[in-house]
Amino acid sequence: MLIVQDSLAEAAALADVLSGRGYVTDCVPRGADAIREACGSAPPDIAVMDAVLPDMDGVQALRAMKEQLHPGFFPVILLSGRADADSRVSGLLGGADDVLSKPCQGAEISARVTAMLRIKAAQDALRVAKLELERLSITDALTGLFNRRYFQYRLDQEVERSKRHGDPVSLLLLDLDHFKKVNDRHGHAVGDSVLCRTAELLSSELRRLDVCTRWGGEEFAVIMPNTDGPGAATVAERVLRTMRAKACFSAPPIRGSKGRPETFKVTASLGLSVYPSIGVEGAEQLIRAADAALYRAKDQGRNRICFAPEPDRARDSPPDLLARAACA
Ligand code: GH3
Ligand code: MG
Ligand code: MG
Repeated sequence: MLIVQDSLAEAAALADVLSGRGYVTDCVPRGADAIREACGSAPPDIAVMDAVLPDMDGVQALRAMKEQLHPGFFPVILLSGRADADSRVSGLLGGADDVLSKPCQGAEISARVTAMLRIKAAQDALRVAKLELERLSITDALTGLFNRRYFQYRLDQEVERSKRHGDPVSLLLLDLDHFKKVNDRHGHAVGDSVLCRTAELLSSELRRLDVCTRWGGEEFAVIMPNTDGPGAATVAERVLRTMRAKACFSAPPIRGSKGRPETFKVTASLGLSVYPSIGVEGAEQLIRAADAALYRAKDQGRNRICFAPEPDRARDSPPDLLARAACA
């Protein structure tokens, strides 16, 4: 708890009462000291502050402190030298959370501090819950990747940024091949573990700025900010190579497999598009172009990358461009 009080005697009396009730107190004489404490590495939970300080008005100091400690709730109790209601009202309207007229009893100050910290604890818990809800609202529960809601938000944002600054943004869609067969043969739980492993493999090949999301059932979408066609192609080829080498699984024995676990591989098809490019003038067209490229990759036999048509850069990867790694 921070006590902001320039009278040494009053500060000592307050510290005495409050530390006697178990609070750890720190006393400073001026508003500037209080603001500095608020910027420090161990900011206070609450301040009890004189309404008139030697260097500034108490309301001015508390506003600056609250600004520093935003977005958490930082309660400030103002001690006014005046006994009239008007001065308490102006303190409250100025931003104080509570105002007491001096002289006030130690027991009352202490009770008000306790009440204020109770409100702070509730506010802090709400803030933590809100942050967690925000996190959950943009997270895919199965893979832990960002979800489609976040994908759409970020894609709109990146395309807008690209429009303003002229940097390209690329979009990679990845769809597992014949995934339905995995579920049908090995069950949903094994299918789920394939999705989780794919999320890991995909993430492991991306850069820090790339936004990796689960777009739908067995489809993943990666937004690559500030990345042109050749840059995105390099990433996509790395992803395809990793999928070919590492997307190998072992499933519990199924009927007819003589009690032996069954190993299987999963492949993926990838579609790539870039903004800006011919016919790609916004986020929606960027998705459509990547989706069309992905559809082409499926059509041409799967387990490959196709690029959205783009003069000079258009080049679909021949199926054998990347050596197929043997499944261990
Ligand atoms: P294609 O190569 O053409 O993409 O064929 P596919 O079988 O991968 O595609 P299809 O769209 O026919 O099937 C997708 C399957 O993905 C069907 C659906 O049950 C499954 N799926 C979607 N979400 C989940 C999930 O969260 N867990 C599991 N285990 N399966 C899922
Ligand atoms: Mg699909
Ligand atoms: Mg599929």
